[in-house]
This record gives sequence, structure tokens and C-alpha cells, in this order.
Amino acid sequence: MSTAILRATAADLGARIAAGELTSVEVTTAFLDQIERVDGEVNAFLHVDRAWTLAQAEAVDARLATGENLGPLAGVPIAVKDIFCTQGVPTTCGSKILEGWLPPYDATVITRLREAGLVILGKTNMDEFAMGSSTENSAYKITGNPWALDRIPGGSGGGSAAALASFEAPLALGTDTGGSIRQPAAVTASVGVKPTYGGTSRYGVVAMASSLDQPGPCGRTVLDTALLHEVICGHDPMDSTSIDAPVPPVVEAARSGDVRGLRIGVVTELGGEGYAPGVELRFREALAALEAEGAEIVEVSCPHFSYALGAYYLIMPSEVSSNLARFDAMRYGLRVGDDGVNSVEEVMRLTRGAGFGDEVKRRIIIGTYALSSGYYDAYYGSAQKVRTLIARDFDAAFEQVDVLVSPSTPTTAFKRGERTSDPLAMYKADLCTIPSNMAGNASASFPCGLAPEDGLPVGFQVMAPPLADDRLYRVGAALERALDTARGHTLLDELAESPAGAYLNVVEA
Ligand code: GLN
Repeated sequence: MSTAILRATAADLGARIAAGELTSVEVTTAFLDQIERVDGEVNAFLHVDRAWTLAQAEAVDARLATGENLGPLAGVPIAVKDIFCTQGVPTTCGSKILEGWLPPYDATVITRLREAGLVILGKTNMDEFAMGSSTENSAYKITGNPWALDRIPGGSGGGSAAALASFEAPLALGTDTGGSIRQPAAVTASVGVKPTYGGTSRYGVVAMASSLDQPGPCGRTVLDTALLHEVICGHDPMDSTSIDAPVPPVVEAARSGDVRGLRIGVVTELGGEGYAPGVELRFREALAALEAEGAEIVEVSCPHFSYALGAYYLIMPSEVSSNLARFDAMRYGLRVGDDGVNSVEEVMRLTRGAGFGDEVKRRIIIGTYALSSGYYDAYYGSAQKVRTLIARDFDAAFEQVDVLVSPSTPTTAFKRGERTSDPLAMYKADLCTIPSNMAGNASASFPCGLAPEDGLPVGFQVMAPPLADDRLYRVGAALERALDTARGHTLLDELAESPAGAYLNVVEA
């Protein structure tokens, strides 16, 4: 019974709760039990409070009992990245500087989850302030990739991705500034979507780089992710960059998966040298599957994408250096050296010195330098020009094709510790994902099989024009259906039979 709940899709769980076949308390209890059983090894969660979570499930069951219609995901549990403010519930952003801080309000997306009757299972581990690609920069713990525990689960949202892959949650929330939803999805065989910039509210999301940050949905199937997308997206007057337009028809697109006549452009610059053979192989197979489904495949060049990583590592740290100035030892969390003798400046210096980790300090220093007078034009100014050129590449490409595609990441999950002493090697994990953040368009990663050389998951990235998020789901659903048919079983079956399935099987042991 409990295994059947853990491996069910969120859509199915929601339907069975609505039909009265299951209660939210039963479903939520199954996932809380699974967290208790396996999270000691996976380390996906930073904070779980069983009583708090069960109280939410009881409240949803009571609302449903009165006949209230809460939508298709009512009663379904969800894991939430620890970057989202949750009222009265610890929110650390993976940093010591926020240890013990209890937000006084909920982020807008959290409010939307509650309104739709979703149940929050807990807060998931992440790289400190979302800076990293492996979740090894968390100040608290290192999360394992359920496919192979000595491998990284991606970052910065590695906790959310690992919770999905170890059957600890059927849905999760992430944020994507340079790839933190899509890269973890790619290396754990889950679905991760970065909506169009402005499509999801950033209100109550701890800011990393405000012009790039975008919250988004994570799931194990395309339809589940679309259902969550519809819950969390949409206009919010509390976020001045929020777009006042209807949410694109993502659920309809996920149900249809019709790609007949769709023009798909393969980005020449995102492939070739430096890409693992298994990644290239599965990517090409996915293209063939989409072609068989009726899509038209062409090559498209986006020449400025090659400069995206360099420009990102000037713009992002510049915004980081100003956003993180708010951690001044006075307003939030940690305060060090407040002995009545030290000056305010000294307390600030000691607190920031003790509270921030190395990667965060590195980026604050780079950003402050890039913005300093005399260097501003050469660094920040030039990077902004490159950003415009990248957006123009996208515009030109979308005149020829409906979506662009590439591998989500150049390699499969690397080994824990392998890149921690080489920041540049770590940064390269986001080579394919960063262009979409720079231009603000919609982008997603879908699972497309396992690399033969290491048996680890490969992600297929789809990029769509702003406010055409539904095209991502159309392609994702076509791919899911085609690959499931080719394999003769669903991706969830594959996940259950994989090493990650060991986490499912402990239920029966
Ligand atoms: N890995 C990238 C970085 O370290 C992206 C982070 C993110 O999307 N939050 O900046």
C-alpha cells in the first residue's frame, strides 16, 4: 500500500484523494515515513516537522470533507527548497548566517500552494544562497544523488531533486538563476522547469541575482510538473517584475504532447567538445524520437551563447554583492562579537566573516570589484551588452523555429568532491542552462535515458520564447511518451528499478 503511494504520480494521488479513495493524511504519512527511513542516507531535507505537516494534511482533509473544490493537487505533499520564506518555519537558504531565523510571512508561491491544498513536507537542502551546482556548498549537509550516493544531486536545488528521486516527495519547488532547477533535474532523471522570467512571483524568495532568479516546479512526470506550474505561476502585485498575463496553457500541452509540425532547433554551440559521449548519444536519440513524433529538426546557430557563462559570472556576482548586503548582523539570524565593546562595523565584519561560506564570499568579492568605479564599464557594462546579444540570438532563432534544444548539462552527475577545489570546473555544469536566464525565456529539463558509460541520467533541455512555456510541456510530453513506448515501460518504472529504487524497496523490506 505504502509503496504504491510512494511511486504514484502526483496527478494520480490528487485524483484518488478527490475521489475519497485516499486521505491526505494517509498519503502524507507515507511520505513522512519514507523520509524517516531514507533521509539519514540521502540528506535531502534540512527541516522536517512531522506534526506541522500532518496538521496541514488534516486541515486539507477537513476542507475537502465540506465539499470544497481545491483543484487537482489538493492533499498532495510537496518538498520545498529552503530558499522560500515559510512563516514561522526555519528558512536558512543553506547558510549559517540565517540559522534560527523564522520568516514573518509566506512567499507568494507558498501561499498559492496552501490555497490549492498542497501539504508542505519540509525544507530541502541547497547550496548556500543558491550558489553552486552540487549542493556541496550547503553549510549544513551534503546531499547524495539517489542514483549513486557518491555522486552529486546537482545544485543548487539538489535537495529537492534528490527528494523526488528517492521517493521522499512526489513534487518539489526550486529556483533557477543559472540552472538550479534544470541541472539537478537532469542528473536525477526528474523534470524541472524554469518558467518565463516574471511568470512566477519572487516575493518571499531569498534573492540571489534578482534579474535572473525564477522559482519553478519540479516533478517526476511532465503532467505532474505542469499541474504544479499552474498552481504557482501567475501575476502577483507584490513582485514588480511579475508579468500581468494569463499563465500559458501548460496542463493542456502536457496532456496533448502533440509536436506534429513543430520546428525544433538544435543549438550548434551547445554540444560537441567537452560533452560526454553518453550525453550526446541520448540527446541524439531523443531528437530522433521527436522527429518520429512529427517534429521537424533543424540546426540553429546562436553565436553569442559561447559568452554566456563569462557574462553570467559578472552580472550574477554584481547582483549578489548588493543583495547580500542586507545580511548586516542587525536584521536577521546570526550576530557575532556583539559584546558592547566592538563597534557596529566590527560586529558586521565578524558576523559576515563567520556566517558566509567561501563560495558566497568569493562572489561578493568578484561582484563588488566588477561594480567598482573605474571597472564598472569594463566588466558589468560589457557583460550587460553580451546579455543583450544573447537575447537577440534567441529572438533571431525563434523567428526560424518554435523551440530550441540542447543537452541540459555537458556531463552526467560527477563525483562528490571532484570539482570543489576547482570553481571553474563547477561553473561549467551550467554551460547550457545559463543562456535562458540571461534572456529570461522559458526553459526545462526532461529525462532522456541513462548514459551507457556510467548508467547515470541524462537531461534534454528545451527552450521556448517568453510566455510560450506551454511549448516546453508539449515537447516534454511527446518525449516522455515516445521514450516510454520505446522502452516498454514508464520512466517511473525505470526509476523504481534503478539504484534509486532501493529507496522504494526499503518500504517492503
Ligand atoms: N550553478 C549556478 C551558480 O552557481 C546556478 C545557481 C542557481 O541557479 N541558483 O550560480
